[in-house]
Amino acid sequence: MSSHSDLRPETLAVSLGRPPHTPGAALNVSPVMASTYVGAHDTSGPGLGYGRDGNATWTALEDVLGALEGGRALTFASGMAAASAVLDLLDPGSTVVLPTSCYLGVAALVRSRAERFGWTLRTVDVADTEAVLAAADGADLVWLESPTNPLMEVADLPAIGAALRGRTLTVVDNTFATALLQRPLEHGFDAVVESGTKFVGGHSDLLLGAVTVRPDADDLFRSIADVRHDHGAIPGPMEAWLALRGVRTMPLRVRAAQANAGVLAERLAAHPAVARVRYPGLPDDPGHTRAAATMDGAGSLLSVDLADASAAERFIDGCTLWTHATSLGSVESTFERRRRWSAELDVVPEGLVRLSVGVEHVEDLWRDLEQSLDAL
Ligand SMILES: *Cc1c(COP(=O)(O)O)cnc(C)c1O
Repeated sequence: MSSHSDLRPETLAVSLGRPPHTPGAALNVSPVMASTYVGAHDTSGPGLGYGRDGNATWTALEDVLGALEGGRALTFASGMAAASAVLDLLDPGSTVVLPTSCYLGVAALVRSRAERFGWTLRTVDVADTEAVLAAADGADLVWLESPTNPLMEVADLPAIGAALRGRTLTVVDNTFATALLQRPLEHGFDAVVESGTKFVGGHSDLLLGAVTVRPDADDLFRSIADVRHDHGAIPGPMEAWLALRGVRTMPLRVRAAQANAGVLAERLAAHPAVARVRYPGLPDDPGHTRAAATMDGAGSLLSVDLADASAAERFIDGCTLWTHATSLGSVESTFERRRRWSAELDVVPEGLVRLSVGVEHVEDLWRDLEQSLDAL
């Protein structure tokens, strides 16, 4: 937002979404537990009427998330609720561009809607800019994810955003990078979807999602707000409050986890039991040059390819500090073999383990991984 443009992300994350600085006031907003608000006869005024229309705790969180992405945010009950709200804008018969490999929940949702509503699906390798632009021709929605989950492919968001600006509805799922490492709205994308369950919350204790739209996209903002109101996939006040508490430290957590990930990626790549490390921070990764040019860091997620499913399972079972769990972006390090989910796309290798690096001491994390890899 222009009024905050002189403040850096670390400052925005801490200073926005607060009550006014008046003597005696609390520094933090509280979780506002309200299903309804005292009424006025004239309902055209600014006040809230019902709990599904708005909540001061959401608003505080939306102020922070919007400022970080450079747009206006609407929070939802989960990342999937946020994604659904965007997809809900499409008419039957629409044409949708979707990554060949992306978060499986979104891929499955788009595929099922495509079947029900007669959408034409065009799947593209997000790293192939020419292919993305060709597929976007005549499309009603271009949905991108970068880096992709869990293959870690990197799209050229500045080039794609500039080429498609104003031509079609363009959306980036920014869950992996967060607004701290890339800001798609600045490159011309219309909206960013994020699972706040991950890095925003940061402690594996809540689900939440957000859609953030370009500051000038008033119609889009209103349409998505209407979907939220009508479908009711609103965040609970406690979740919004926890996410607000989480976002205060997101810059610190992302930086610490990313530093750990860089060290672990290099060591994993040198281990004989690891066939391949997928991490755009590594100089020989296919996405490295692009990530270095377009992102403010490679993040804290990486995937390793082991020999097969059995090696991946034995690797996971041999670790004690790392937690075997899905989800990502929390303070504790977690990992999982993605193909254990039957819905995971078959472009993901059977022996691939996705690691979400946390903020523990990197030497403790490495020792746990190394002794298990050594035993394979
Ligand atoms: C987790 C995730 C989602 C879905 O978010 P939920 O909060 O689990 O509904 C969407 N996109 C990506 C990239 C994710 O990792």
